[in-house]
Amino acid sequence: MGDALKDKVEEISGVDLSVCFQCKKCSSGCPVAKLAKSKPSEIMRRLHLGAENELLESDIVWMCVSCETCTARCPMGIDIAAVMDALRKMALERGASKQEGNVPLFNKAFLKTVQLFGRSYEIMMIAVYKLGTGKFMNDTEKFPKMLKKGKISLIPSLGGDRKTVRHIFKTTKKNKGAGK
Ligand code: SF4
Ligand code: SF4
Repeated sequence: MGDALKDKVEEISGVDLSVCFQCKKCSSGCPVAKLAKSKPSEIMRRLHLGAENELLESDIVWMCVSCETCTARCPMGIDIAAVMDALRKMALERGASKQEGNVPLFNKAFLKTVQLFGRSYEIMMIAVYKLGTGKFMNDTEKFPKMLKKGKISLIPSLGGDRKTVRHIFKTTKKNKGAGK
């Protein structure tokens, strides 16, 4: 069973997990490792040792912000960020129960706006996220400041390649259906 999880992660991410020699450079550079119970290097180790589905419930899987620092730092050229992506995908498919807070909801809201606009559109992402949480008034005091500093815009940027991005979403959906 453990090998099945490792094999599947390797298949999805294209990563050879066996070359990790536990130098921990990925964990020391990870911006969220200090806040998470599991570090990226621990995930790599546990996968290598044949961890089973409980690994999909590790908090780092959902706290990972896909910054790819770990990937850039790995002396073995392991794409750890791709491993995290693979674990998120599998966690969603297998309905892993202990997903961290509202992170999966945020993830979905983010992807929805990218799918529609070809890149992130923060106002819509916030609206979808707040609809999901039902906490409409949380953090609203930050809104004017962010607007003033140009951190968010009322109008979506139309600079993204929407056609290509939609094609990626369509292909991924089709492949997912074929893989079932
Ligand atoms: S940086 Fe690479 S080799 Fe080092 S622990 Fe992380 S994954 Fe393994
Ligand atoms: S991609 Fe994820 S795991 Fe890697 S350094 Fe960034 S936050 Fe950490």
